Amino acid sequence: MIQMHGVQKQFGQLQVLKDINLTVKSGEKLVVIGPSGSGKSTLIRCMNLLEQPTEGKVIVDGVEITAPRARVNKVREAVAMVFQQFNLYPHKTVLENLTLAPTLIKGVGKKAAIESGMSFLERVGLKEKADAYPSQLSGGQQQRVAIARALNMRPKIMLFDEPTSALDPEMIQEVLDVMAGLANEGITMVVVTHEMGFARQVADRVIFMDGGRILEEGTPKHFFVNPEHDRTKLFLSKIV
Ligand code: ADP
Ligand code: MG
Repeated sequence: MIQMHGVQKQFGQLQVLKDINLTVKSGEKLVVIGPSGSGKSTLIRCMNLLEQPTEGKVIVDGVEITAPRARVNKVREAVAMVFQQFNLYPHKTVLENLTLAPTLIKGVGKKAAIESGMSFLERVGLKEKADAYPSQLSGGQQQRVAIARALNMRPKIMLFDEPTSALDPEMIQEVLDVMAGLANEGITMVVVTHEMGFARQVADRVIFMDGGRILEEGTPKHFFVNPEHDRTKLFLSKIV
């Protein structure tokens, strides 16, 4: 579903991604861990062209999205992203947040977008909040709306960039539960997170990034039982 070949990313003189080679299979759940500044966000932003790699190829569902004439909007329809800061439209209701992009960008009919939007709100447990405004919701609820909004685009891939890092502790689990539910439905997911319980429960594979490289990769069990590199051990000892 996702292939990265020799991907590099530079910001000015700063080399942030160094020769990334990575394949994510259809339906796979990949968790990305690593210290702050190691390039995790940049890596997943290269998967939907929020960042354009300076070298290398990214192929999503058979289409080379880094090709010069790739259609950025098509890529973003297929590869939805959920951010640490929920980025809901503050002056739109919850339901309007869900229907805006499908109707404007994808050309979905209003009625169909509302119907599917309501079903995704139900899925994240927030059907009764359809007419509320984001400011009337808790952080955990807002993030669940952001997930429902991403789902209403019917993406092939969901990217999550530290989706619970901005939440109060008591709200983290409700968001992780929604994500674990999605994971069971076969959607391809790439999740940057420090939530090791989630990684253990949901990930098919974990990659550890350090200094712009994938330093180590394996099953969750590999990471928790027997990580190879001292750098990985040190990182895990600090967060687990
Ligand atoms: P992580 O998500 O692992 O914390 P990031 O991918 O956000 O790491 O950042 C990796 C490095 O790239 C950091 O040194 C960061 O300061 C730098 N960086 C990220 N985005 C930009 C940008 N738009 N311009 C310049 N430097 C950036
Ligand atoms: Mg980041």
